[in-house]
Amino acid sequence: MARLEGKVAAVTGGALGIGRAAVERMLEEGAAVGILDFLDKEGEALAKELSAKGHRVAYWHCDVSDESQVKAAIDGVAERFGKLDVMVNNAGISGANKPTHEVTEEEWDKVQAVNVKGVFFCTKHAIPHMKKAGGGSLINLSSIYGLVGAPDAPPYHASKGAVRLMSKTDAMIYAKEGIRVNSIHPGFIWTPMVENHLKTTGMDPEVAKAATAALHPVGHMGEPDDIAWGVVYLASDESKFITGSELVIDGGYTAH
Ligand code: NAP
Repeated sequence: MARLEGKVAAVTGGALGIGRAAVERMLEEGAAVGILDFLDKEGEALAKELSAKGHRVAYWHCDVSDESQVKAAIDGVAERFGKLDVMVNNAGISGANKPTHEVTEEEWDKVQAVNVKGVFFCTKHAIPHMKKAGGGSLINLSSIYGLVGAPDAPPYHASKGAVRLMSKTDAMIYAKEGIRVNSIHPGFIWTPMVENHLKTTGMDPEVAKAATAALHPVGHMGEPDDIAWGVVYLASDESKFITGSELVIDGGYTAH
């Protein structure tokens, strides 16, 4: 219950899905947490609900594709809670689901702006605080599709491959300063993102859900907490020798 006692974390896309679960589990483990999202109603309500339980938590409006908003939110978390030890780069969108030759430049750029540039901006503005704190942990949400391909959503898969290598590069750049950088690679996790993505397949929702579940050797999709516990581990000092690594949490999807 105190694996993150004394740590301060920020989570992008923290209002829903995997981000929300990461916020909740990190708070329960003793961290103070800044929720960064652009869903103000959901983010404010979550911060209020968790504050009422006695947790140290607050909400900041932050579109990760806007550098000035990223800087203001991250500086705000560090000012409010005294420092920043952990940055969870979780915000992401699935984007256009069509073959590459049909994807427009605008659709391509939209996904990269959030999934890739967002991770860059948050890393850029978290690092000075981590240097000041004498170390830290950056946790980047990639995907199974940062490891293997699939015949759909080309902008998304490209973005998650980029996040995987950005994590390794930054792990090497900042290792000597005690700043660890790792990527997490979830299989399908039942969240609003996956629910919306399955709607783009044009299949019957229940058929699409069952077909997606069947892609995992365990026979079902994961739940947000399956990923949140990985976040807690990488945020904690239990993982102090782990940097530049890929934590795959995918029900066996990439095992074959
Ligand atoms: P989600 O349910 O859609 O939640 C993501 C959150 O990020 C939402 O609150 C979303 O708001 C927010 N967001 C989107 N764009 C943003 C922006 N520009 N700035 C700030 N916040 C923004 O997604 P999830 O399934 O929890 O996924 C979280 C991360 O895990 C993503 O990076 C995703 O690619 C990765 N991942 C998920 C799965 C999965 O199966 N769920 C698998 C592999 C990897 P909106 O709802 O308005 O977009």
